Amino acid sequence: MAAPERQPNPPSDPSEAFRAYIAQQGLRGTRQRMAVYEAARQLTGHYTADELLRRARDIERSVSRATVYRTLPLLVGCGSVREIDVGRDHTYYLTENGGPAFRAQLVCERCDRIVEVDAPFMEWYGKAVAAKHGMRPVSQRLQVSAVCSDCQRRAAS
Ligand SMILES: [Zn+2]
Repeated sequence: MAAPERQPNPPSDPSEAFRAYIAQQGLRGTRQRMAVYEAARQLTGHYTADELLRRARDIERSVSRATVYRTLPLLVGCGSVREIDVGRDHTYYLTENGGPAFRAQLVCERCDRIVEVDAPFMEWYGKAVAAKHGMRPVSQRLQVSAVCSDCQRRAAS
C-alpha cells in the first residue's frame, strides 16, 4: 500500500501576520480588532471607515468607531490595507490582495468613483527618475482626476 502523499504545508493564516504586527506594537489581538481585520478582508473595492465599521459590527457587535479608527493605521502599517487620499474630507481604503505594487487611480471628481489600474511603468519611471538624482524610490503614487462616464452622461442630459 502506498504511503499517503505528504501534504504541502497549508498557507499560513494571513490573520497571523496581523496578530504578529500588532504584538510588535505591544497590542493584543482582541475580538474587536480581529473583527475589524476580518471586515477589511471581506470588503472589496474602495470603502470608507464608516463602511468598515458597519461590516465589522456585523461580525462583532461591540466594535466601536474608535476601535475602527485606531485599528486602521495598524492595518495600513502591516500592509493589509492601503489608504487612498483623494483630497476629500474622508479617506478611502482598499484591502490589498497581493496584486501588483504599482498602481494608479482614476478618481471621478463628481461622484468619487475610483478605478484602480495597474501601472508597471511607474516602477520603471520612479527608479529612473530617482537614480538620476542619486535617490532610491520608496513609494510613489499617481492619481488622475477625471469625470466618469455616468457623470458625463448625467451632465449631458
Ligand atoms: Zn462620476
